[in-house]
Amino acid sequence: MKTIIEPFRIKSVEPIRVTTKEERAKCIREAGYNLFNLHSDDVMIDLLTDSGTSAMSAGQWSGIMQGDESYAGSPSYYRFERAVKDLMPFEHVIPTHQGRAAEKILFTVAANKGATIPSNTHFDTTRANVEMSGAEAIDLVIAEGKDPADEYPFKGNMDLEALERLLSDAHDRIPLVMLTITNNTGGGQPVSMENMRGVREVCSRYKVPLFYDACRFAENAYLIKTREPGYADVSVPDIVREMFSYADGMTMSAKKDAFVNIGGWLALNNGDWADQARNILILTEGFPTYGGLAGRDLEAIAIGLQEIVAEDYLRYRMASMQYLGNALTRIGVPIVKPVGGHAVYIDARTLLPHIPPLAYPGQALAVALYVEGGIRACEIGTVMFGMQPDGSEQAAPLDLVRLAIPRRVYTQSHVDYVIECIENLYTCKNQLPGYRIEWQPRFLRHFTARFLQLA
Ligand SMILES: *Cc1c(COP(=O)(O)O)cnc(C)c1O
Repeated sequence: MKTIIEPFRIKSVEPIRVTTKEERAKCIREAGYNLFNLHSDDVMIDLLTDSGTSAMSAGQWSGIMQGDESYAGSPSYYRFERAVKDLMPFEHVIPTHQGRAAEKILFTVAANKGATIPSNTHFDTTRANVEMSGAEAIDLVIAEGKDPADEYPFKGNMDLEALERLLSDAHDRIPLVMLTITNNTGGGQPVSMENMRGVREVCSRYKVPLFYDACRFAENAYLIKTREPGYADVSVPDIVREMFSYADGMTMSAKKDAFVNIGGWLALNNGDWADQARNILILTEGFPTYGGLAGRDLEAIAIGLQEIVAEDYLRYRMASMQYLGNALTRIGVPIVKPVGGHAVYIDARTLLPHIPPLAYPGQALAVALYVEGGIRACEIGTVMFGMQPDGSEQAAPLDLVRLAIPRRVYTQSHVDYVIECIENLYTCKNQLPGYRIEWQPRFLRHFTARFLQLA
């Protein structure tokens, strides 16, 4: 069969409030043309993020009712721990309220001033937590990973020569190496098994532990299955087990590939680090058998972990991403290629050459998408990264608009609607206005800045 169906039926629905273009133009004007300022019930299709926005299954909701809320020693914790260890066989599994809490604890234990933490590309919260500890965060993704048009299948790979150079110079001040799978900041691009093996080998030679930032491990595993020679006939759970066999620990945001709305964990083999991590956990999150979560959340994660590695689900997930990417390419809209695991990224700077980077082509496209169809996307460009530490402004390397797809939430007709909206905008793209910033805070300005439309 050519048609790949959504491998689920819908038992419970959330109504979408249908709005008019006039209503949306008023909403976005009142929001200072910042999509983060919108009320989400004024949004029809919300593609702002895939984090914490998954639809849970009937199995997960019934798991919620099984949650045991004992302060210590809850059976829900042990079910959660078993589900994690079934895929990621680390000695110690420490639940946290989300991914960044696991990062904060890990770098408080492992990093300090003068240390360096390399990664393929640090996610923004990971980088911030590394820097909070006084350490330096550096990105060593391969050159292909920085070119949006390059079709290399594993653009999340670490540059092994650069890692080798860094470790041979400075391994005594590198407490650990991180690898982000998939590479979110780099466009949701996967890391190959060969590259994971290579990173492991370099780390072993210099006796430096390797940790995965593993938020989208299942999407990465499926992309290995479909893109890397030798893995077509290996099951996804076995691919996942091989991936994690090369690591000494991991941080996880369960809001991505565990199908839950909140949760995360830190897992590792080093008993000394684990003891220190649990001490911090008790100060900042909670007792080690619940971390920052309720027993019911741990149940939902345990069940979500079994569902996320189902190949029917992953085949549908990747096919729906591909479907959107192919349609945009057919229209002539430039996107980051190849399409990664959780989102399609439009190259707004190339699409809107009449809007210079400092008039924010990504913001211009994101606002237009909202007014046209009530679709909320996320600018990842000069608004997000253009402000320099000294307060001046520079164009970001790229001006992208990310269409992140929540898991199991939207159907193909929702995606067709998104495609039609983008097609409409494509015909009048030369008339879209740029923006300037009316007000902005000193840090992380994209969340709260207010904009004015340029004439
Ligand atoms: C979301 C994310 C995080 C942080 O997780 P939270 O649950 O949002 O705190 C870390 N790394 C990557 C790659 C992510 O995508």
